[in-house]
Amino acid sequence: MKILLVDDSRAIAALLEAQLMSLGHQVVLAENGQVALEKFRDSLPELVLMDIEMPVMNGFDATHRIRSFERTQKWAWTPIIFLTASDSQENLIAAIEAGGDDFLAKGLSIDILRAKMKAMGRIARLRQMLAVANQQLEYLASKDGLTGLFNRRWMDLNVDKAWVDAIDKSRSFAVLMLDVDNFKKYNDHYGHQRGDDCLRLIARTIESVIDEVNVKNVTNDVFVCRYGGEEFSVVIPGASVATYECTARHIVEVIRKLEIEHVLNAGFEIVTVSIGAIRIESAAGSVATLFREADAALYRAKNKGRNRVEYAG
Ligand code: GH3
Ligand code: MG
Ligand code: MG
Ligand code: MG
Repeated sequence: MKILLVDDSRAIAALLEAQLMSLGHQVVLAENGQVALEKFRDSLPELVLMDIEMPVMNGFDATHRIRSFERTQKWAWTPIIFLTASDSQENLIAAIEAGGDDFLAKGLSIDILRAKMKAMGRIARLRQMLAVANQQLEYLASKDGLTGLFNRRWMDLNVDKAWVDAIDKSRSFAVLMLDVDNFKKYNDHYGHQRGDDCLRLIARTIESVIDEVNVKNVTNDVFVCRYGGEEFSVVIPGASVATYECTARHIVEVIRKLEIEHVLNAGFEIVTVSIGAIRIESAAGSVATLFREADAALYRAKNKGRNRVEYAG
């Protein structure tokens, strides 16, 4: 384990450090609470051994601050064990109140220390497993199960970030709302299973266009998500008018070129999509307005005969 050992007594720290190292642990030393806080942030240890009485900042204050820091970092609870000599009962209670987990008497035998560290090692491993599981869950919660694209939830979280960034940099911002044409009839005619396959293929196709745009513009800012049902949205921060218009037209074209049979899509007999698009030169105001205008443009694209891009403004 990586252990942060905090004690102002050089003698005690040196002895304990030697013992812990002989048990195979990695030790980071701090001589007071202030230094402990800095080293905690830098090294993110798996366990903290904390003295109580120390100059500059005592163990209680340091523990409080470590807990506050953890809350800002989505960092799970790191066990903090107080090192006690002949501390009063009040001190022991205050240690737990400050966010400590346990006590360890100073100067105990190596066997007891080994046993204690074994127990702490188990907790550290569980914490690690929990962190990995949480990361996986977060990833899964951001994805759409059918297409593998990011879902609406992810987009809502990330569109705001992209928008704030565009405002800060006075960048342009564009939104494409894409809707599959006459898709209800596709399901009616070919069945939901084929409908699902079709949506997957459309998703992959949009994604490959987006990848191309990102590569060509040396950016990773453009993203696509499944907005819901047979609707997808593409967010393009910082693109020129040419890139934006070309991306929209290209998506409509490559999906048409897939030539997926759709006999009930009147006039085309293959799967087509419509896009409502909007771009503003310099991000300002609310991003919700852009989505509304893209939606209105999409509605016009449908009314004008589908299989096309309609630009707002
Ligand atoms: P329009 O050209 O005006 O968009 O017509 P439309 O039929 O595509 O529009 P409408 O909103 O009437 O129908 C959307 C259809 O999309 C209905 C729904 O069954 C289908 N759909 C939505 N989500 C899924 C899905 O996950 N799988 C399948 N197979 N179909 C879906
Ligand atoms: Mg001390
Ligand atoms: Mg729709
Ligand atoms: Mg539709």
